[in-house]
Amino acid sequence: MDFAPSPKVREFQDRLTAFMEEYVYAAEAVAQEQIAASGNPHHHAQIIQELKQRAHTAGLWNLFLPDQAYGAGLTNLEYAPLAEIMGRSPIAPEIFNCSAPDTGNMEILAEFGTAAQRRQWLEPLLAGEIRSCFSMTEPAVASSDPTNLQTRAVRDGDEYVITGRKWFTSNAFHPNCRIAIVMAVTDPDAPPHQRATMILVPLDTPGFELVRTLPVFHYIGEGGHAEVRYNDVRVPVTNRLGTEGSGFAIAQARLGPGRIHHCMRSIGGAERALELLCKRAANRVAFGSRLIEKQTIQNWIAESRMQIDAARLLVLHAAWKMDTLGKREARQEISMIKVVAANVYLDVLDRAIQAHGAMGVTNDTPLALMWSHARTLRIVDGPDEVHKMVIARREIRRWTQF
Ligand SMILES: Cc1cc2nc3c(=O)[nH]c(=O)nc-3n(C[C@H](O)[C@H](O)[C@H](O)COP(=O)(O)OP(=O)(O)OC[C@H]3O[C@@H](n4cnc5c(N)ncnc54)[C@H](O)[C@@H]3O)c2cc1C
Repeated sequence: MDFAPSPKVREFQDRLTAFMEEYVYAAEAVAQEQIAASGNPHHHAQIIQELKQRAHTAGLWNLFLPDQAYGAGLTNLEYAPLAEIMGRSPIAPEIFNCSAPDTGNMEILAEFGTAAQRRQWLEPLLAGEIRSCFSMTEPAVASSDPTNLQTRAVRDGDEYVITGRKWFTSNAFHPNCRIAIVMAVTDPDAPPHQRATMILVPLDTPGFELVRTLPVFHYIGEGGHAEVRYNDVRVPVTNRLGTEGSGFAIAQARLGPGRIHHCMRSIGGAERALELLCKRAANRVAFGSRLIEKQTIQNWIAESRMQIDAARLLVLHAAWKMDTLGKREARQEISMIKVVAANVYLDVLDRAIQAHGAMGVTNDTPLALMWSHARTLRIVDGPDEVHKMVIARREIRRWTQF
């Protein structure tokens, strides 16, 4: 295994880092001010739009997509250090058109979409003209086990009629969000993993109802997390993604890269938190010496460095395995890094917040917003406990009958 970045990746790293330093970090506060001034927490800040155009022109765009026809054609291993740089700022992924849930949606549209679906939805997503959402989780059932899903899509002639209630449909409140990919049960009598189907629902379809926005630790972000009601929503059968009953298979295809992208960005976020911790501790004096001279703080810094470097190696290993052996073969490594990266990110953020004292819990640094996001990463795309369950099962199977 050779994890050294290629010359092409090094060049992207340099350009991305320069872009972040010149534009993105400074835009964090501006975006917050613009959203506050608009009075609408879902306002699309002008500065984000401007920087999207600038990043697009600079060719720092769609770097996540390994497909050469549509994306930059980078492998997962090549993309990892670039996603890490983007993970340093909560606003960066959108600026480079590399943000969830659009990335996962673009991937499955590229892989499973018909030519017409790709033209209508994938192309404007790739161009950053529209945004999208993914509607799987339901409030009424334990959705970490998607065989529980209840939302129905019933065939009526050339249409599906969708009825149900979803929540945490992230991004649905984004002013540019136009399309939802909904996972609905098409055949309740089929074997559990063949019951559901992915269906494309344009947000302006009659019966698509945005019920409310769900704050996360009191934050309401730009795209929001929506509770959505599907009230007899009718869409043509041609809006089906893949074959009927293939919803679970497509969800798995979506989650592999989606999970590891979160991990790559978490490493970058943890690096930024450690940088802020060190800078703060170098300047703050308490009880006769700078914080950085105290052994407790040095211990935090050392722990953070060791955790981040170990997590990065796990991410790179998982990415390498996805590239060389395929997503399926890399499932164990993806589950492992999904748990490790989120927890490392949280540990480092917690120390950085602590070192900032009261300031750490305000919006005067990006740490509080980063923490609120990082905490959700232990739940999204499969809670820690579910990943640990499958990691343990695979390990046990190596040695015993299970
Ligand atoms: C910020 C955020 C954004 C999200 N975005 C989206 C999105 O865009 N689209 C979407 O469809 N969903 C989204 N989700 C939903 C997310 O994927 C689900 O919350 C997740 O799958 C867990 O489902 P649940 O909330 O129903 O929890 P449940 O399934 O009810 O599980 C609750 C808890 O039970 C425990 N548990 C479950 N299984 C086991 C087990 N086997 N062993 C031990 N303990 C267990 C875990 O601690 C788990 O956290 C988002 C969630 C958040 C917080």
